[in-house]
Amino acid sequence: ATPLAIASGLRDALQRGIVVTNSSLFETAPAVDTVVFDKTGTLTTGEMTVQSVTGDPEALEVAAAVERHSSHPVASAIIEYATVVIDGGARGNGQTSHVGSSKSAATVTEFERHPGDGVSARVDGERVVVGTPELVGRRAGSLSEDLQTAVGEARSTGHLPVVVGRGGQAVAVAVVGDRERDDWQAVFETFDDKRIVVLTGDDEAATTRFRDHPAVDQVFAEVPPDGKAATVRELRTTGTTAMIGDGTNDAPALGVADVGIAIAGTAHAADAADVVMVGGTLGDVPAVFDLASATRRRIR
Ligand code: ADP
Ligand code: MG
Repeated sequence: ATPLAIASGLRDALQRGIVVTNSSLFETAPAVDTVVFDKTGTLTTGEMTVQSVTGDPEALEVAAAVERHSSHPVASAIIEYATVVIDGGARGNGQTSHVGSSKSAATVTEFERHPGDGVSARVDGERVVVGTPELVGRRAGSLSEDLQTAVGEARSTGHLPVVVGRGGQAVAVAVVGDRERDDWQAVFETFDDKRIVVLTGDDEAATTRFRDHPAVDQVFAEVPPDGKAATVRELRTTGTTAMIGDGTNDAPALGVADVGIAIAGTAHAADAADVVMVGGTLGDVPAVFDLASATRRRIR
C-alpha cells in the first residue's frame, strides 16, 4: 500500500503544479515547526512598483516621458504608474485621458542620464528632472516640507523616494519599492501555529511590512548570500525547518533545510529543493503541507 499512497500523493501534488522531487517529503513535512521565507522574489515579486505619490500625481506623466529613454528598473515603475494608474484610471472614470496620451506623444529633448542619481530632459520644452532628492534638490531647488516628509517615510520603510522636478521646482515624490505578492498574508496566517522566520539580504528597514505581521516570530536582515544556509542550519538545531525561496542564492539554504521549497525561480534553486512550485504560486505552499500530511496518513 505504501508505494501506492506515495504515488497518489505525488499525483495529487502534480495536479496543483507542485513537483515533489524527494518523496521523503511525506515524512518530513508533517513534522515541520519552523517555516523560513526568503523575502525578495518569494514574499515579493522582485519587480519595482510605485506604491504611493505625494504632491502632484500628474508630474508622473512628464516623468514617464523622460523615463521612456531609460532602462533602469525605476523607469519601468514610473512608466507603468503613468500608463496603468493615471491613464487607466482616467479611462475608468469615463474621462478622456488627454494628459496621458499627450505626454506619451510629448517631445523629449536634451535627455541626460545622471549615473547613480536619475535622469533629466526637456519635455515639450519644459525642464524635467527625475531621481534622488539630492539630484532634484541641486537642479530644481529645495523640497517642500510635505515632500521632505514623504522622502523620510520612504527611506525609513526601506523604499526608494523618486523625486520629480519640473520647471525648476520639486513637485512630487513617488515611493518606489518591490511589489508584494498579494497572498503572503494569507499564507502566514495558515502557518500561525508554527515559528515563522523571514530571511533577507536587504536592510532592516525593507523588512518593516513583514516584521509587523503578528504571525512573524523572527526576522533576519542583511544576511549575506552564504549566511542564509548558516541561519537555516542554526534554526534546525531547535526545530524541523522548512525553507521557501526562489533565487540562486537561496539554493544552499533550500538544500540544508529539512524541507526545501522553491517558488519556480532559478534552476539552481529548483535543483536544491525537495519541492518546486512550478506555477510560481506562493499561495499553494500551505497545500504542500496538507498533501504531505494526508499522504503520510495513507502510508501508515
Ligand atoms: P542602484 O544599483 O542602487 O539602483 P543606480 O546607480 O542604478 O544604483 O541608481 C542609484 C539611484 O539613482 C537609484 O536608487 C535611484 O534613486 C536613482 N536613479 C537611477 N536611475 C534612475 C532613473 N532612471 N529614474 C529615477 N531615478 C533613478
Ligand atoms: Mg529571493
